[in-house]
Amino acid sequence: MKITAVRAHPLSIPLAPMTPHSPWLEGMPKQVLVEVTTDEGLTGWGECFAYGAPLAVASVVHEVLAPLVTGENPTEIERLVEKMEKAMLLYGRRGIAVHAMSGVEIALWDIAGKARRAPVYDLLGGLYTPRVRAYASLLRYTTPAAVVASCRHFAAAGFGALKLHQIDVESVRVAREAVGPNVHLMLDVNCPWSPQEAIRMGRAFEPYNLAWFEEPVWPPEDYRGLAEVSAALETPVAGGENEGLAQGFADIVAQRAVDILQPSMTKVGGLLHSKKICTLAAAANLQVVPHSFYFGPGLAATLHLIASTPGLAYLEYPTGDLQAPILTEPIRARDGFVAVPTGPGLGVTVNEEVLKRFPYGSEGKRLFILT
Ligand SMILES: [Mg+2]
Repeated sequence: MKITAVRAHPLSIPLAPMTPHSPWLEGMPKQVLVEVTTDEGLTGWGECFAYGAPLAVASVVHEVLAPLVTGENPTEIERLVEKMEKAMLLYGRRGIAVHAMSGVEIALWDIAGKARRAPVYDLLGGLYTPRVRAYASLLRYTTPAAVVASCRHFAAAGFGALKLHQIDVESVRVAREAVGPNVHLMLDVNCPWSPQEAIRMGRAFEPYNLAWFEEPVWPPEDYRGLAEVSAALETPVAGGENEGLAQGFADIVAQRAVDILQPSMTKVGGLLHSKKICTLAAAANLQVVPHSFYFGPGLAATLHLIASTPGLAYLEYPTGDLQAPILTEPIRARDGFVAVPTGPGLGVTVNEEVLKRFPYGSEGKRLFILT
């Protein structure tokens, strides 16, 4: 089998309006899918992190990666990843180029699974768990009242774990009061503080029994600073969603910068690097909870990683719905759990009509946020 074409699809599918409203809704609609076709009629789908610049990511796919893998056997994934990584050395070891490679790599796994008529988790060590506890990853809200309304909504929908994206103590206090002591509550602050500020804020949050405190330090790669925060707090510290490749995570592990590593499937290089990061973490007795605020192949690939790896306690489940789902059968949580797709490859089908309806630029928003 040989790869005949690699095509990136830069998209802007907006999120549907939600109540309460979040200012983040306008910043979300950017996606890049990758379609890899073969001479045997099999097609694989992957997803890249769009990084607010989906045309740049798509350009790396088309101009750099497609010529490298076209004509190659798509099931020789380790070899093709090495080839892509070496060719992209000067583009950097994290960021747009690695995001682009992630989308191609995920599509290769989709093809490899389809070729063997096996779900991807079967190629990654086999099934460890068929069903994953999901935490609802809430958007950021502008008032504590909106935080309470959102927490109540998703707790009532059956989620036993909720992640806030607030940066103030009052929002966390009212969220804990609203959901009671038995719901797992996490807090992601998206890299705002110095290590000293992060320690002070982390102590202020400690009465609310957070399952983790995510990305408290700016800049995110200040792993020594993060290690100081982790050592100072009872609450576990989480981070890593902005790092790329297993080598970047080796640095986090070596410094014991966080208690919970959060590789992001569409940013780290795809499934092979994610699996290696899980091995690094397991060997160091650290936890992994992947970042996965995605709706398409990136979310499906994350599910296959969790399905095949011991100790990954949660799936990050994006709240909100795209105005038109990327997948013909969207991945849904029921009673706070998500079932792992069991069909060949990623086990999901991309809705190609939606790709045609929402090409990037079709709705003109240019804001961008990290989750
Ligand atoms: Mg995050």
